[in-house]
Amino acid sequence: MTGNLIIVSAPSGAGKSTLLKAAMQLVDRLVFSVSHTTRGPRSGEQHGRDYYFVTVPEFEKMIADGQFLEWARVHGNYYGTASTPIREQLAQGNDVILDIDVQGAEIIRNSGTVDFTDVFIAPPDMEELERRLRRRGTEDEQNITKRLANAVEEMAQKGTYEHLIVNDQVERGAAQLAEIIVAQRARRRRGDAAQPAAPSGA
Ligand code: ADP
Ligand code: 5GP
Repeated sequence: MTGNLIIVSAPSGAGKSTLLKAAMQLVDRLVFSVSHTTRGPRSGEQHGRDYYFVTVPEFEKMIADGQFLEWARVHGNYYGTASTPIREQLAQGNDVILDIDVQGAEIIRNSGTVDFTDVFIAPPDMEELERRLRRRGTEDEQNITKRLANAVEEMAQKGTYEHLIVNDQVERGAAQLAEIIVAQRARRRRGDAAQPAAPSGA
């Protein structure tokens, strides 16, 4: 059986990376999809582990070559998910987590080409979101303003996701995310079992 695609979106600073890392300790056969981006690496981020950091011309060539399952401009930079690694992981039976923005989620939802479930991670409130963004210390003032403004629009999309996690405590949020992933596996297994078997010799 092929793996499941799990789309996770959140306003910047809501704690998505934190919950994903914690959930990956709780569930086996779960792979993080490494996106391509034209934004620069933050301190501690590694090429190939956190993102593939590429130039704008490199990214635009990948768009022209049709290499992306989805891509979008987010906070002034390009971000995209290459199709081939995802398909390979799913074919091996691994579940794949896509950490993508609301535009990317919409593209995959509308494409109708892949099975997925989607999860929106919200902060407890906007004041806490701002505190977390500032405490992380990775963005300059201009970027914080841009990310907070985008957060309002992103929060307006939360109802389009199948699951909502309010990240007030890391352990609880990670456990909820792990539960969603495990439940999706069970749902797919039941769904697959309900399919009529192909006639022999067909
Ligand atoms: P995102 O990936 O959504 O941009 P991060 O995972 O980088 O967000 O989290 C933003 C900041 O908030 C980090 O400093 C992280 O340690 C902190 N954080 C994440 N989850 C929580 C939480 N439940 N309570 C308090 N702080 C949190
Ligand atoms: P950050 O710069 O904080 O790592 O990410 C900014 C935003 O870009 C986040 O909302 C993140 O989910 C989104 N993002 C990361 N990778 C991709 C991707 O491949 N496609 C899309 N559409 N968004 C992405």
